Amino acid sequence: MLERQHFDPQQPIVVACGMGVNMMAMFIEMHRRAIRPDLLLFADTGAEKTSTYLYVPIFRQWCRDVDFPELVVVRYQTLTSTPYDTLTGNCLANETLPGIAFGMKSCSIKWKRDPQDRFCNHWEPAKAAWDAGARVNKIIGFDATPRDQRRAKATFAKGKADDPKYGYTYPLQQWGIDRDGCKRIIADEGLPVPKESACFFCLGMKPAEIARNKRDNPAQHEIALDMERRFREGKHYRGEGGTQGLGRRFAWADLKLNEAGDGD
Ligand code: SF4
Repeated sequence: MLERQHFDPQQPIVVACGMGVNMMAMFIEMHRRAIRPDLLLFADTGAEKTSTYLYVPIFRQWCRDVDFPELVVVRYQTLTSTPYDTLTGNCLANETLPGIAFGMKSCSIKWKRDPQDRFCNHWEPAKAAWDAGARVNKIIGFDATPRDQRRAKATFAKGKADDPKYGYTYPLQQWGIDRDGCKRIIADEGLPVPKESACFFCLGMKPAEIARNKRDNPAQHEIALDMERRFREGKHYRGEGGTQGLGRRFAWADLKLNEAGDGD
């Protein structure tokens, strides 16, 4: 069972904070087990759902209450000549969709992973660890459900086990905590359970999630449809054989959404 003593003090603990259910439950459980992270990073794509941005101050306050580090917000560094500073602007300006709509991870690499890695490259505890031949410990909130177990395995399969700079730990899996368990932990702590976190136009959203965001934030939903429209009328659209819209094989504009926004 993973406890504080299993972490090498030479390896600083860094956590990517997505403001979702798994993240919050993992931190509560870490605090209960006296595992204090050294760096908390929130990579802001500028395209998070409103509910995610509203959770940031709740999370910040909880961190202060338990004496965890202050959350650091990092962003993609644009060039002065770049006409956008968010992932939304990136897609709209280039008449395209996030990389995930084409089966690629370029959006999360550019807007989430790279800004965090860039910050770590200049962060003294990480530099000291690397100078001493140790690795920085990246803690990731994959839970114990079969789906997340597969995702964790796939992450390692892509060569991360040999990463000279980072080691990867999935505490929720080691503690056997699944998604429902995460929600119970958050409720027991007296905190609101976060809504699904992702960009408001992410392919990973299920129809019920899209419907909920349309209900709660119609302006964001309209921007997503506009993005899709520009893509379909623009230079990157490849016709019927290619990506059709934010659902990849289909366009969100064609979805029959449950107007009440309930269900899974
Ligand atoms: S949440 Fe979705 S759209 Fe946003 S960066 Fe991640 S994969 Fe891309």
